Amino acid sequence: MLNDTTLLLDLDGVSVVRVERLTDGTRRVHLATADETATACPSCGAFATKVRGSAVTRPRDLPYGENGLEFHWYKRRWWCAEPACPRGSFTEQVPQIPAGARITARLRDWAGRRVRDAGSTVIQAARDLHLSWPTVMDAFRDQAREVTEAPLPEVEVLGIDETRRGRPRWEQDLETGKWHLVRDRWHTGFVDALGTGGLLGQVEGRTVPDVLSWLVAAPLEWRKTIKYVAIDMSTTYRAAVRLALPRATVVVDHFHVVQLANKMLSTVRRRTTAEIRGRRGRADDPEWKARRRLLRNREDLTGEQFAAMWNTLLDEGDIGQRLLTAWIAKENLRSLLALARTAADRHRIGHARWKFLTWCADSDLPEVRQLAVTVDRWWTEIEAFIRTGHSNAKSEGINRVIKLVARNAFGFRNADNQRLRTRCVTTRRARGHLRTAQL
Ligand SMILES: [Zn+2]
Repeated sequence: MLNDTTLLLDLDGVSVVRVERLTDGTRRVHLATADETATACPSCGAFATKVRGSAVTRPRDLPYGENGLEFHWYKRRWWCAEPACPRGSFTEQVPQIPAGARITARLRDWAGRRVRDAGSTVIQAARDLHLSWPTVMDAFRDQAREVTEAPLPEVEVLGIDETRRGRPRWEQDLETGKWHLVRDRWHTGFVDALGTGGLLGQVEGRTVPDVLSWLVAAPLEWRKTIKYVAIDMSTTYRAAVRLALPRATVVVDHFHVVQLANKMLSTVRRRTTAEIRGRRGRADDPEWKARRRLLRNREDLTGEQFAAMWNTLLDEGDIGQRLLTAWIAKENLRSLLALARTAADRHRIGHARWKFLTWCADSDLPEVRQLAVTVDRWWTEIEAFIRTGHSNAKSEGINRVIKLVARNAFGFRNADNQRLRTRCVTTRRARGHLRTAQL
């Protein structure tokens, strides 16, 4: 019986003296120190020989069995044998139960790993294990170090993307009645866009210095392995990448280019309705009815749907003409981007680009022309996408996880905690490594 319990406890440094069963079914385990080094003074290392007194501590351990175990550890206080030692006296401690600790080291580690690997919130883990929030948070911070201090995996395509942290807050000026954005917080995330490294890091903010702070802190040798950087159409990110990763090719994410074209289309529709009809759009306006179809990809519309949209708008005269002009510009741009999937040569890319640009230039619509200007300004990066097909799609997936983590924690008040939790949940590398280590 005694040996069995010792084996089951598997707690180094203490031995079981006896086990007592309490009326409520709890087993009280009486422990004695079983580690010779526990009598060494923690300050000077000298082994003590003179007992000063005794003490009982009741450290809590991992949940065990249905009724649980309750530890009573009888330990001694010693006088330090070294006369020059400033400490004087000390109480025995073992690595699993450090001095002053009310829980065993393994319970603490377990609580930390629950948050790190199982995606549990700090509050959930604290409640389940009957620990305090600060205890679990500290334990998690220690466990997270394995993730944050691990060397970065080699990354060929780095994705940089922004995520909003919490809801933006608006306040109304009581005198002017105008609304001001008083709080709009962002995180910038760095992602292994091609490999399996997941989220590599996050910083608060999305300015050039914010992005630079993370990039320049990464080892130079690691930065040299990055060949491409996928970003959305943000001039800030482009500027930061050019400074910190001058050798990498910037690739603009095609999803954001199409998004820009769709935004242009909606602007043209609203302006046209306002100009020609002299009012805002109504549900029975043909252009309002067609608004969703206009944003859909040509290949996703059936022949019938396409014909219905096209002919109705054509019948509308000027309004329809303008909308179809904008729609063709969007579709020409999409055809250009679709060349990424066909391994097109320079000539074909050049032709598709020319077709898009001339169509825009020939139109009378300022929004369409502006789209051409923007595409031209980003042409190097768009062409890099067409040639490589690299995108920021993984960032989008990771962003969904980030939002999920934030929702589970009912919004984080502390940005550092949020980044740490997010990082651990989205870093596949660390979790895979841990699983192998446990086997
Ligand atoms: Zn000492």
